[in-house]
Amino acid sequence: TEFDRPPVPIGQIGLQARSVIAVGSGKGGVGKSTMAASIALSLSKAGAKVGLMDADVYGPSIPHLLGLSGRPEVINGKIQPIYYEQLPVMSMGFLVEPDQAVIWRGPMLHGSISQFLRDTYWGPLDYLVIDMPPGTGDVALTLSQMIPLAGAVVVCTPQQVALLDAIKAVSMFRKTKIPVLGMVENMSGFVCPDCGKQYDIFGKGGAREKAEEIKIPFLGELPINMQIRQESDQGHLAAAFEDPICKAALDKITRAIV
Ligand code: ADP
Repeated sequence: TEFDRPPVPIGQIGLQARSVIAVGSGKGGVGKSTMAASIALSLSKAGAKVGLMDADVYGPSIPHLLGLSGRPEVINGKIQPIYYEQLPVMSMGFLVEPDQAVIWRGPMLHGSISQFLRDTYWGPLDYLVIDMPPGTGDVALTLSQMIPLAGAVVVCTPQQVALLDAIKAVSMFRKTKIPVLGMVENMSGFVCPDCGKQYDIFGKGGAREKAEEIKIPFLGELPINMQIRQESDQGHLAAAFEDPICKAALDKITRAIV
């Protein structure tokens, strides 16, 4: 299969992975964490060894989306990730109280990110998916200095303001020499479950147009879906894959990325 090639160490930190994929956005609330976790789940369901690192240190939401909690153990100097089924997950959310704000500045941020990567026992991975903090370049810079990233996926909604922020994110990744894999449109229209009529709540197609305009690949779109919102509020994002439309959209996006 496509996963047969053994993972090799990448970067100077001995992380064994075939490919590291960052998921970013220009601003918060566009579904970046939902997308990062879904890509990891989709790859994992397809039989790949995947790790999920929540580098959104100011607003770690991955533990919540996957219903994970607890304190990671340290064994032989390595932080043991918390598992969602086969998927090892590491997040700042496991290290701070849920209602506690993270007020770290640059140097500490750099330290926490490099520790996440270097000191977590990931094991050999096919893919490491990283949920980036929205907007700023600090974490991207730290990562790009530590490991060669396969590239970054930029998530945005079809709204004009979100698209402008997404373009800033693209230019931020380019400045930090992280290749941009392409753009994903989230909350792309809404199909009414009762009448089947489509309502383009935030618009639709804007990200595809922008991607073409700035000459980056368009990787696909995920509509607004009640099940995604409801299930992730309950910590069951994976259940959204039971909806065939959602699953098809997420698997298609994932295939366009890897
Ligand atoms: P970000 O990481 O960009 O801040 P999140 O992934 O945390 O955004 O998503 C923000 C909120 O929007 C969450 O409540 C999530 O469940 C919801 N959401 C994300 N994508 C969708 C979608 N396609 N349909 C419905 N709700 C969504």
